[in-house]
Amino acid sequence: MKNTILSALILCLWLLSMTPASATPPQVVVSIKPLHSLVSGVMEGVGRPELLVESGGSPHGYSLKPSEAKALAAADLIIWVGQDLESFLVKPLSTLGKEAQQLRLAEALKSDLLTRRQGGTWEAPEHKHQEDHQDHSHGQQLTTATADLHLWLSPPLAKKIVALSAAKLSQLDPVNTVIYNRNSEQLQARLDILDSALEERLEPVKNVPYIVFHAAYQYFESTYGLNAVGSVTINPERKPGAKRLKAIQQKIRALDARCVFSEPQFESRLIQTIISETAARTGTLDPLGADIAAGPEAYFTLMNRLADNLIEGLR
Ligand SMILES: [Zn+2]
Repeated sequence: MKNTILSALILCLWLLSMTPASATPPQVVVSIKPLHSLVSGVMEGVGRPELLVESGGSPHGYSLKPSEAKALAAADLIIWVGQDLESFLVKPLSTLGKEAQQLRLAEALKSDLLTRRQGGTWEAPEHKHQEDHQDHSHGQQLTTATADLHLWLSPPLAKKIVALSAAKLSQLDPVNTVIYNRNSEQLQARLDILDSALEERLEPVKNVPYIVFHAAYQYFESTYGLNAVGSVTINPERKPGAKRLKAIQQKIRALDARCVFSEPQFESRLIQTIISETAARTGTLDPLGADIAAGPEAYFTLMNRLADNLIEGLR
């Protein structure tokens, strides 16, 4: 009898030691909803990543809630764009232990980045902030500080984000590599379909000039050859002054911009002031998906809605 209990106990201990450490899925934290959606798709069937900037928030000027700081401290992997987009993460991440892995997309996708828009019909650099602009060597060396970091609004880049996330997750959690790879392949195939559908749908409005609220859509515009002619502001944290507003109104008239798009994350009253005395209409574009439920479908809903809203405003 004693022997049976003893061998049962040994069997239990042996079974426990056999259970892989990654039976609990890795704790993954993702900064913004569109990226969180792609990572959710890669992790489907394994676990759910945590989202930091929730609905209504913007990564520009965000500050971390205590519960989010806690999630960050417990994370095995943090996926974000980089310090020049989610600057609120720089300090908390610097205090994390070396065990926490990071996937910094701006760095990983460096060769795919576009230069941040300035000058021309776009907002001229603000000379008050000399230090930001000193080492601009236009077109030469694109650093993550001079690049446009709104890199998620392009399905071809989303495919790369998916592949990078799957590779990083497999490295961290090799037991589930097969699932990550399968999800990654399926997701990339869906993104190809989305890409062709968007291209076809946007074709008729391609040449219509319009103005966006902040310079967040360059990747979308360059993917589909759209005709955005300016933005109200480059830094949405800074309100444009009266002089700037006048200049935008002139630009609207000169370029015959059909629509000025606001964003749900920022004040839309400004847009009403801008379009008064011009022939432009208003619309809304949302680069983050404020009212879209987080999860694997969010990215697809966000991109389709972006196209819907553009077409509606530009028709
Ligand atoms: Zn932005």
